[in-house]
Amino acid sequence: MSCVFVARATPVEPRARLASSRRGTRSLSRPSAAPKVRASYAMAPTVLATAPPVPIMVNDLTGKMGRAVAESVVGRDKSQCFLVPVAFSGSAKPAVDVGGVVVEIKSIREDAGAALVDLKKRYPGMIVVDYTLPAAVNHNAELYVKHNTPFVMGTTGGDRTKLLTDVTAAKLAAVIAPQMGKQVVAFQAAMKLMAENFPGAFKGYTLEVTESHQTSKVDTSGTAKAIVQSFNDLGCGFDIKDVTLVRDVPTQLEKMNVPEEFLLGHAYHTYKLKSPDNTVFFEFQHNVCGRSIYAEGTVDAALFLSAKVTGGGETVYDMIDVLKEGGMVTN
Ligand code: NAD
Repeated sequence: MSCVFVARATPVEPRARLASSRRGTRSLSRPSAAPKVRASYAMAPTVLATAPPVPIMVNDLTGKMGRAVAESVVGRDKSQCFLVPVAFSGSAKPAVDVGGVVVEIKSIREDAGAALVDLKKRYPGMIVVDYTLPAAVNHNAELYVKHNTPFVMGTTGGDRTKLLTDVTAAKLAAVIAPQMGKQVVAFQAAMKLMAENFPGAFKGYTLEVTESHQTSKVDTSGTAKAIVQSFNDLGCGFDIKDVTLVRDVPTQLEKMNVPEEFLLGHAYHTYKLKSPDNTVFFEFQHNVCGRSIYAEGTVDAALFLSAKVTGGGETVYDMIDVLKEGGMVTN
């Protein structure tokens, strides 16, 4: 027997995705632990129509992820959200145009607090999105916390314990997630549920894991680590050090079939399972090209957070919370 579950997420044109997904995918069946303060924007467009569009500030939209998020914001329906025409970067830079919105790039090191206070007055209900550098995570979060500005932290790394402690102590609402790709998060959650419900179901099976990313990524993917943990809970006994990391271009092109235009931005994962007697095979695969899956998930997280703030939410959420409330809008 052979079972292959393959998911590829290559960018398709956003409007078609939006239209088809809006027809209604309520994602996970478990109700959210967090109170539902407003019907989801995904499931209740009439409610959305009455709420003002959410101002979204993207730091730093001169970076790769920030730019992708800014483009997603601009690409959304104007009734949902709009891009704040100011962003913080590590240093002041020339203004950039994102889909017709000219965004001033200020240094986060110079009077960022005063600028944030001013922006909050000009754009009530503003949500900040942060895609910067691991070294900037805690400093930037301190700034948002100090000025009581709800934020979505997509940046990985930094001192995560301090990050959570700072936000929780300030009773600020934030979405913090190292993986904003909603479908990937859903797959991770499903694997975790499977492991919790059927521990040892794959006992004795041999696992092979291969992941390919752009050559600049040195470490093993966090997603692979999480999925391997679930496979181990299912009985596989796999050492994370045995993941095959593909970082060389010829292998990516010839063996992994990564499209050339995505060599600098892809996340391919394959998990192969084989029964002890070599008669049963399973294969799970999730291949992501580009950044749109993360960018769209981030915008959904920002809209989710805005609804939470409107309802008095003052806690830290993750992408599972976003998915549970019907955040599966796009992609
Ligand atoms: P990038 O290097 O392209 O962009 C980072 C930007 O941050 C640069 O423009 C830099 O000038 C700017 N910057 C540096 N210090 C800053 C500061 N103190 N304040 C504001 N801006 C500052 O990096 P990228 O590829 O866009 O990735 C950014 C982060 O997002 C990384 O941590 C990456 O791991 C993470 N990431 C997360 C997800 C997710 O799903 N959560 C997906 C992809 C990438």
